[in-house]
Amino acid sequence: MQLTPMLRQYREIKQQYPDALLFFHLGDFYELFFEDAEIASRLLEIALTGRDGGEAGRVPMCGVPCHAADGYIARLIEKGYRVAICEQVEDPKQARGLVRREVTRVITPGTVVDGQFLEAKRNNYLASIVPVEGDYGLCLVDISTGEIAVTETRGERALEALLDELARAFPAEVLIPRAVPRTLLEAVRHTCPALVSEVEGETCTEDVARQVVMGQFGSGVAQAPWYRSGPAVCALGAALQYLVRTQKRELAHLKSVSYLPATRHLLMDAATRRNLEITRSLRDGGKWGTLLWVLDHTVTPMGGRCLARWLEMPLTATEAIAGRHDAVQELVDTTLLRTRVRRELRTVQDLERLASRVACGSATARDLVALKTSLRALGPVREILTGLKAELLRELYGRLDPLDDVAALLEKALVDDPPASVRDGGLIREGFHPEVDRLRAIGSNGREWLCAFEARERERTGIRSLKVGFNRVFGYYIEITRPNLPLVPPEYRRRQTLANAERFITDELKRYEDEILGAEERLAALEYELFLELRQKVLAHLERLQQTARAVAELDALLSLAEAAARYGYVRPRVKDGGYHLAIEEGRHPVVERVLGAGSFVPNDVLFDGDRRLIILTGPNMAGKSTYMRQVALLVLMAQAGSFVPAKTAEFGVVDRIFARVGAADDLAGGRSTFMVEMSECRTILENATSASLVILDEVGRGTSTYDGMSLARAIVEFLHLHTRARILFSTHYHELTAMAAMPGVVNCTMAVREEGDEIVFLHRVVPGSANRSYGLHVARLAGLPREVLERAREVLAALEARGKGWAGGQPSRPVTQLEMFAREIHPVLEELKEIDLATTTPLEALNKLHAWQKRLLDEAGRPVRRVRRGRSGV
Ligand code: ATP
Repeated sequence: MQLTPMLRQYREIKQQYPDALLFFHLGDFYELFFEDAEIASRLLEIALTGRDGGEAGRVPMCGVPCHAADGYIARLIEKGYRVAICEQVEDPKQARGLVRREVTRVITPGTVVDGQFLEAKRNNYLASIVPVEGDYGLCLVDISTGEIAVTETRGERALEALLDELARAFPAEVLIPRAVPRTLLEAVRHTCPALVSEVEGETCTEDVARQVVMGQFGSGVAQAPWYRSGPAVCALGAALQYLVRTQKRELAHLKSVSYLPATRHLLMDAATRRNLEITRSLRDGGKWGTLLWVLDHTVTPMGGRCLARWLEMPLTATEAIAGRHDAVQELVDTTLLRTRVRRELRTVQDLERLASRVACGSATARDLVALKTSLRALGPVREILTGLKAELLRELYGRLDPLDDVAALLEKALVDDPPASVRDGGLIREGFHPEVDRLRAIGSNGREWLCAFEARERERTGIRSLKVGFNRVFGYYIEITRPNLPLVPPEYRRRQTLANAERFITDELKRYEDEILGAEERLAALEYELFLELRQKVLAHLERLQQTARAVAELDALLSLAEAAARYGYVRPRVKDGGYHLAIEEGRHPVVERVLGAGSFVPNDVLFDGDRRLIILTGPNMAGKSTYMRQVALLVLMAQAGSFVPAKTAEFGVVDRIFARVGAADDLAGGRSTFMVEMSECRTILENATSASLVILDEVGRGTSTYDGMSLARAIVEFLHLHTRARILFSTHYHELTAMAAMPGVVNCTMAVREEGDEIVFLHRVVPGSANRSYGLHVARLAGLPREVLERAREVLAALEARGKGWAGGQPSRPVTQLEMFAREIHPVLEELKEIDLATTTPLEALNKLHAWQKRLLDEAGRPVRRVRRGRSGV
């Protein structure tokens, strides 16, 4: 079927970008056609129209105005689509036939550079994953800031470690070679809600990758520690090729690669990160109610991103942790200085992203002015920081280069408030370039010249109503009203006839017009040229700029931690090498404390040492068990990220991994039930916990029948305690499990409550001992369950308690007393046996005792008692 020539051109281009929505530049609009038009009109809620498609009839079309395209593109990217921008690459006025068009950029969620598409305080990562013989290479690039990191995961648990890293980085887009096993694809999709883009397998081979990597970073890269790792290089190579393909412009700002071997950071799996709500809340993935929400007092976007990274990647090297604590301490102690630095930093804009836009060639004059203003603030910052003692602060001081030369150049070259467009002039400051000044003078002197010309002509012709005017079609003209036409001098040439007047031109006016219009055009072109030169000059200082941006980011993050510490009364924790000692006095949950308001939160202690490595926590619903357990994990995490902590004192041996299994989560989309998810998470813990780990298990086993759940919970916790020797906090409503306290290293704790008649009051205090009731009905009443339901529940409970019977999974298959569950430790027969003094017991007494015990046991099992024949005892 023959399409119109333009739609044929569209089709050809679209075929090269089948997985992107093609924005086709047509006049003042970007148009979309066919299926793209249907998708975009639906997502953007814009009218779907049609266009004559030749033999194809009317084809669907929709469009957005070019000047407003950014907003529409941002919405499509946010919804996980790619957008290919197809521009007219020749002037339509000069084109013979169809205007030539080319795709100049493909924008995808992971390759966004421009500010309006990005969240200021979050990194926007493109992740590239390449599997190599069972190992995985992972590369994370934030092209908007110029950061690149690579790592690899190896061995039996390579996939899980890879997914943990993905969960941490939370990329916007994941690249993966085509034809990887479905299981990998599903696992990735399951771990992060990113757009998955498949790339050709041949772009991911080691040879190709090494070539690309050398091309970008130069031959010196061969010395980098990660360069020898095949998987890491393959992942980096694949990412770079994808960026070149989509950006179609310089990637000069990707200058260095950092290496993230797994052991340098406190590890947390995806479930733990979710449960602890470090930077994203469980509720809606937002910031409110997270640890970051409490600690983020940063005043720059890069500071915000740095702090989020620190919290997602706490340290394990105790010197590095202490280094951050020293810096925070000094900033806490110097309130005035802290306030002044933060005030100065407020004027610093996103240096990292500005630098990237300079490198990608998309920085506008406004961006460069923002850069100048930001750099100008750094001088005073450095001055204020002079004389600080903490090593990290001194180091940051050294790295903080205010680039005075660059700022001075920008100051000299650009006006203070340039227009948004860089092509229409008005950018360059007076006095920077003589030709700009001269051309501008022609323009501004023009008005005076025209007035003088008008006055002169009036005088000469004697026509008092003579007027000089301008219109776009005819240019400058002299207008004479009809009654005055006989006075028009012969050298006037007629241009246009109106109802009441005629318009004329003279040679002098034409010469003037050529000069002034030409000057405006030349001025705009010259200013653009000078601006490009200026941007190029700034680019030459890119590395300095990036280094400064990172120093500012770290400084701002440290100031933020100090601000939080000072505002909320946090103390400096002590993190030591080795040992499973962990002591926190009067700890508070950083987030719940803020939500409840100052003074309402009840502080609690926690102590792990040689004799206490497993704490079993029982207590009523709503008493604060989960809050307490999360609090312990969060305090450890905060301390190792460099923060002070909400406590009176805190001291512990460094933690290598935190596991937090709190609350129920299901994964119906992934085909796993709540209980299945819980058991898979437990498996991860059992396989990975070490003696340096901290494990938090909240009501494990409650997702199945009572006995299955209780048995599994006990077996899991016992195994962890005996085999990993990790520090474990375990909360449960199975009171039978408190019997584990008989084992060495296990203690019981409970949440204190006060009973006031029918009511109970939660004291939110953790005390030694165990609870024997759950007060579930009480909480149900608080939740407003209907009275009828509550009364019925009370009846059922009373009946059950009277019979001393439990239920096995809803159906009382064989009634079993709860005591029977773990009779080994707590059956009264055994208690009696323990107490018996054999030295004073006669054989007959012993036999009678035996008889009584056997009878009791057989009774409980519902079997007849055999008679004891006296005299035949062997005792
Ligand atoms: P369940 O067994 O039902 O899961 P829980 O014992 O885990 O309950 P939490 O969810 O930790 O209870 O706490 C319930 C509520 O109690 C919290 O939302 C919080 O408002 C309040 N709370 C918890 N701990 C404290 C505390 N130390 N001080 C003040 N209020 C607290």
